[in-house]
Amino acid sequence: MPKTPHDPLYYHARRAVLHANDTGISHLQRRLRIGYQHAIDLRHALRGDVLEHQADTDTWHIRAEADRHTDFLLEEKLAQAARLIGSAKALVIAAGAGMGIDSGLPDFRGDEGFLRAYPALGRQGLCFQTIASPPAFEQVPLTAWGFYGHRLNLYRATAPHAGFGVLHAWDQRMAQGCFVFTSNVDGHFQKAGFPTARVHECHGSIHRLQCTAHCSGEIWPTADLHPQVDEAACQWQGELPHCPRCGALARPNVLMFDDWHWNATRSQQQRMLLDMWLDSTTAPLVIEIGAGRAVPTVRNFTRRMQQRGSALVRINLREASIHNPDAIEIALGAREALERIQQHLAADI
Ligand SMILES: [Zn+2]
Repeated sequence: MPKTPHDPLYYHARRAVLHANDTGISHLQRRLRIGYQHAIDLRHALRGDVLEHQADTDTWHIRAEADRHTDFLLEEKLAQAARLIGSAKALVIAAGAGMGIDSGLPDFRGDEGFLRAYPALGRQGLCFQTIASPPAFEQVPLTAWGFYGHRLNLYRATAPHAGFGVLHAWDQRMAQGCFVFTSNVDGHFQKAGFPTARVHECHGSIHRLQCTAHCSGEIWPTADLHPQVDEAACQWQGELPHCPRCGALARPNVLMFDDWHWNATRSQQQRMLLDMWLDSTTAPLVIEIGAGRAVPTVRNFTRRMQQRGSALVRINLREASIHNPDAIEIALGAREALERIQQHLAADI
């Protein structure tokens, strides 16, 4: 590791020089959007680490011994995240679809991921938005339940990846505890040991059912439901799940597309618990994981938390911004980021 730099742009500058093999001041100015004097100072700071200055010709060169392999900018961000976690008293975990991918769960972002997971639906000309919508349960109920039945089986059979265990260990060290806000419907935070009363599933849960006729407002667990699905055709086999009260078709208690009849009662109760917990804590640290801009619910929540004074660590493989001064943004997958932050944390203790 190079000497601890005082300039927050040090590692950005280091990376910019090595990436482009360019030691010029104008290059640094352009890449980092900084003034002339700032670029001069940064180049001097890099001397002995990646740069050397030849006095007789007044030229700058990249040192042959410069470490080009370690991404120090990333390491510094991981270390900063570890320091924040080490000193936090309360933690909010805000998780989106990227959290589930490392457990081997399919990603429905973009039609490509969806069609790879459900080729039979592609052959029927059905996209994710069509099958994950209330009309699908009226028009093609065996197919709609084939899709959700398969997902229920898959989420039940899949073990949450090691990153969940890392988060659960951080939960244990928080004096004021931890709360999960997630748009995932897989129930994996509870499976990983997080208490039910500390998880807010803002899009519902695939492990709960509701009536499509909205007879009573009841939400009931899927414990007795054991889906038999013809996976090659994505078709439900046998009797479809029904509402125990009125006998109408049942559906997952999951927020779908254009879903005006999602029963939000359970999710709202979870939200109330979250708000009560937030009132009892002071600016908890927020770790946002795998939450994209396409479904902005989780990002909107973390933005509100920042407005309330929370610090933010954002883990996002595809949509991290390296120049955001308001957050530590880490462009890695969920599991790798969490495990590497944990390594820094363990080294600090
Ligand atoms: Zn009913």
